[in-house]
Amino acid sequence: AKEQGKNRYIFFNHSMETALREKILLERNLREAIANKELELWYQPFIEVATKRIIGFEALLRWYSPKYGSIPPVQFISLAEKTGLIIPIGCKVLQDACTFVASLRQEGYNNLRVTVNISVIQLIADDFIPTVQEIIAQTGVSPSSLGFEITESVFMEQSKGLVEKLECLKDMGIIILLDDFGSGYSSLKYLNHLPIDVVKIDKTFIDKLDENGDKKQLAEIIIALARQINAKSVAEGVETEKQLNRLIEYQCEIVQGYLFSKPVPEEAVRSLLMSNQKS
Ligand code: C2E
Ligand code: CA
Ligand code: CA
Ligand code: CA
Repeated sequence: AKEQGKNRYIFFNHSMETALREKILLERNLREAIANKELELWYQPFIEVATKRIIGFEALLRWYSPKYGSIPPVQFISLAEKTGLIIPIGCKVLQDACTFVASLRQEGYNNLRVTVNISVIQLIADDFIPTVQEIIAQTGVSPSSLGFEITESVFMEQSKGLVEKLECLKDMGIIILLDDFGSGYSSLKYLNHLPIDVVKIDKTFIDKLDENGDKKQLAEIIIALARQINAKSVAEGVETEKQLNRLIEYQCEIVQGYLFSKPVPEEAVRSLLMSNQKS
């Protein structure tokens, strides 16, 4: 044990110490950010290919720190997961997204759906379902206006009752989207056993659609696969007309990406909706 301790000391070099200090600082700042309400949701539209209409939005977290400026989610979500802070953050995200979609409904936008990214840490928590039910009751949102985006990493969890949880959410009327499909440990065998309503094709496959050549595109295969399990497909990160045209050819139903709109703050959502309805 002494040897190990010694080694650890040797390897615990300057840059690691700096990294650790930065992590501790970031964690403290994140705790303060929650208390100071520095976290807010921005919204990126989903476009139905057939009608070119906005059919909903994905809620994406933004952190603006008065001290450090804006900090992107890739820099703090995994830390939030490791420290457990993702639980209060996820709660706040769900509350805000529900309040947002409930207010859209009041304004007459009856068919819009808002999707929320749910970390596997939230999903496996014992009180996840009761928490969701409580927030739905508090905000008066219709569960049919909600979607939960989960990633393939849930399949790595041996957590019991995961499928039952997803089925329970689905019975409530919430749709389940499988995010970043194909990017990680996609286990095809789970596709059949999970109540997936929508498959989101990872951006890496969308980027490939710009390339020339007659190699079979994985995006096309994923779209066909989704159809086989009665799921819709969403292409995420669509940036070019060429990508869009190919997705239309493959009969992808829904698209999302900078070609249509970046994520926007809540104040900008209404004007986005109004100009979409006019066009
Ligand atoms: P994601 O769920 O895969 O979200 C898509 C990311 O791609 C978003 O980055 C979005 O802004 C970006 N994006 C959308 N369209 C385009 C495009 O056309 N081109 C490019 N280059 N990028 C595009 P963002 O907002 O930085 O979020 C990054 C990741 O952080 C998300 O990936 C998600 O995994 C996570 N995240 C964000 N908000 C939340 C949240 O509320 N809860 C949890 N658990 N995770 C979140
Ligand atoms: Ca997502
Ligand atoms: Ca995604
Ligand atoms: Ca992603």
